[in-house]
Amino acid sequence: MDKKINRQNAMDNERIAGGKVWLVGAGPSDAGLFTLRGKAVLEQADVVVYDKLVGQGVLGLIPSGVELIPVGKVSGYHPTPQYRINEILLEEALKGKKVVRLKGGDPFVFGRGGEELELLCEHDIPFEIVPGITSAISVPAYNGIPVTHRDFCSSLHIITGHTKKLEEAEVDYEALVKVGGTMIFLMGVSAMPKICKGLLDAGMRKNMPAAILERGTTAHQRRVVSDLTNLPKDAEKAGIQTPAIIVVGEVCSLADQFHWAEDRPLGGLKIAVTRPKDRNSTLASMLSNLGAEVVLLPTIETEAILENTALRENLEKIHQYKWVAFTSPAGVKVFYDEMRKMHMDIRSLSGLKFAVIGAGTRKAVEEKGIIVDLMPDVYSGEALGQALAIQLKKEEKEGKKPSLLLPRARIGTEEVTRPMDEAGISYTDLPIYETIDMESNGMVTYDDSVDYVAFTSASTVRGFVKMHPDIDYTKVEAVCIGEQTAAQAESFNMKITIAEKATMESMVECFLRRKEGMKS
Ligand code: SAH
Repeated sequence: MDKKINRQNAMDNERIAGGKVWLVGAGPSDAGLFTLRGKAVLEQADVVVYDKLVGQGVLGLIPSGVELIPVGKVSGYHPTPQYRINEILLEEALKGKKVVRLKGGDPFVFGRGGEELELLCEHDIPFEIVPGITSAISVPAYNGIPVTHRDFCSSLHIITGHTKKLEEAEVDYEALVKVGGTMIFLMGVSAMPKICKGLLDAGMRKNMPAAILERGTTAHQRRVVSDLTNLPKDAEKAGIQTPAIIVVGEVCSLADQFHWAEDRPLGGLKIAVTRPKDRNSTLASMLSNLGAEVVLLPTIETEAILENTALRENLEKIHQYKWVAFTSPAGVKVFYDEMRKMHMDIRSLSGLKFAVIGAGTRKAVEEKGIIVDLMPDVYSGEALGQALAIQLKKEEKEGKKPSLLLPRARIGTEEVTRPMDEAGISYTDLPIYETIDMESNGMVTYDDSVDYVAFTSASTVRGFVKMHPDIDYTKVEAVCIGEQTAAQAESFNMKITIAEKATMESMVECFLRRKEGMKS
């Protein structure tokens, strides 16, 4: 068919039905290696069709409400056959959906990306390709192996250990040995002895450095560096499993000198961070900056109380108050959303003072154009309550009438209000949102591979338990902010570590100490 007409048809289809497919490379696993373009595309997807090799961190970036279709092999089940995947993409696109086909590494490097496009082309479905970082290059990099080095090689070969029919590769070893250079075999774990033998038989020297790299770019990545003769034996001893890549070439010897990923302060640790959905986690970025693999595990979500007349009434008479205290970014959002509905903006709040529980909430308030007047040094409800009690008591002594509005969760903790009750200070406790336990989407969940779970509130512990009703909690290593959170984790018999201070920095300290402990 005329290519031009074909393109025009595709564009018309896009305009009329809106159906389109994005073939997106998810990278080798580490979410930090996912592209900006990939993330932008995910954020507007209606449906995501994903493989088993896509990292949990990347899956965690899929917004809620997006339909998910797993097509990779999940423990025991066979993967969806390729023709069926092709059909799924077509069917979903024909429904007018924005379909993201998310694949491990790069979609065109042994990813069968080309095959998936063929059927789409036949039906004039518009598509885009978002390349990804291939495991072939990034996994060696995370193991301190530069795939090329001027002193050692002048070419790089990426070879499959499997053919289309899943037989052992029909590789021309002699040609490879003749060309030389670094050789990278994907999908080669089971065929490894054959690959090594093939290269040796073709005349490669017996002590050519060779390595196998398992689960690269994850916290639990492992490498076995050996030589062509001994690699099969050494890999077997180490129990190396798929996914892994085999690297053959002089560059492998550099791993000894250049390894780095596991040496980062939190390298080697996989940490699940529970948090309310749709909230940026400062803790998560602090942990991943220190080298931990972070899995975002939203266990609770917040929902504004609808038709909240109490909130409306209080907003109408907001100038009867002197202080407004927020205990979460969610509270700030609900408060301002309601203001907007009432055609109010920050001008209606002039003269009021604002208190917040911690940095995340302060940011939310400041984004509204308001500077915060009071934030305790320590992140806890109690500290906020105490700071407010002291401040309001002082104002009372100065002859001012203390008046505080506390818009927060319906099941707000007494920690905030107790110090004020004790000081005999009156306030208005105003429920503006509900905290709801989240259901697992089955995609990102806790499993044995998680070393620690970070809990930042008692409600995240409860949400976690509801989400994972069948696991052995005695195996869960819980790192908790504050006594209340720890008490909740302890009530489920989790192993607990309590951050010395109720700050994110102190949480991070806990992990650093645990990592030190693991080394010694
Ligand atoms: N398109 C992918 C490759 C798909 S083939 C890419 O560009 O990376 C699947 C093979 O990739 C696996 O058998 C394994 O050899 C390799 N692989 C993918 N991710 C890996 C990882 N994190 N660590 C080690 N090998 C990986």
